[in-house]
Amino acid sequence: MLRALALVLLATAPARGGAVLDVVATSTDLKALVEAVGGERVRVESLAPALHEPHAVDVKPRQLVRLKSAALLVRVGLDHEPWLARVRATVNDPRFAPGGAADLDVSRDIELLQAETARVRSEQGVHVHGFGNPHYWLDPLNARPMTQTILEGLARLAPDAREVLSRNRARFLERLDAGFSRWSAALAPYRGARVVVFHDSWPYFAQRFGLVIAATIEPVPGVPPSPASLAALTAGMREAGVRVVIVEPSSNRSAANRIAASTGARIVTLVPSVGGDPEAADYVTLFDVNVRRLTEALAGAR
Ligand SMILES: [Zn+2]
Repeated sequence: MLRALALVLLATAPARGGAVLDVVATSTDLKALVEAVGGERVRVESLAPALHEPHAVDVKPRQLVRLKSAALLVRVGLDHEPWLARVRATVNDPRFAPGGAADLDVSRDIELLQAETARVRSEQGVHVHGFGNPHYWLDPLNARPMTQTILEGLARLAPDAREVLSRNRARFLERLDAGFSRWSAALAPYRGARVVVFHDSWPYFAQRFGLVIAATIEPVPGVPPSPASLAALTAGMREAGVRVVIVEPSSNRSAANRIAASTGARIVTLVPSVGGDPEAADYVTLFDVNVRRLTEALAGAR
């Protein structure tokens, strides 16, 4: 019923610029990229808020209604959205099944890191990072294949929009490339710097900018460290001269604070997703904020 209504609305949308596609993304990062490519041709909602426990999301009934009538579901893929299975079961529409007509997995053309990692399953039945590290949007150059996949997904639904979508994407990539020059220059003096991270969100970012992730505080994604693993970690950090610990706004700060206190390392809070900080309002400014915070921490830790 709702879907039928939405189709009627889509069909009767104003002709200027073509019909607007209702898109639901699983993350604010994907929302930002769909908006960058889709421009006026899309209306996008993210199921996950900008900040949440990694891989755990509570989808609201209002969002389920929105998804039912959406033209496209855009997702990170891999094991990033274990909560999506329940959403799919509730919405019960084969269009949104993996590989379905309205399902778009943006990971499909990404060169994955940690793809060999064994599948792990936490006590809550939430499995994470089992098919390769899913935080690939944190390499800004991955936005190229991501926006290409999004362009294809949107153009399949609105073939008349392909030209404008391509123009939008080209404009976005120009801004991204300019940003990438800035970020590379800012981080160049710190190539080879060793950092410790709380959640394993940053391997793509680190690889792109030449940083070395010496250790991860969570022994397994989503699992807090034991006292024994914390002790081993701080000993290793002192030995290796690691001076910076990267946490996220949702990280449990007590473990990070203990590590900082016993090693003298600096804690820097990086933003894992668009909107996680008011300054990180879109995909490009997300990296502006993170690169600035990180260079300040690395400079101060010398
Ligand atoms: Zn993760």
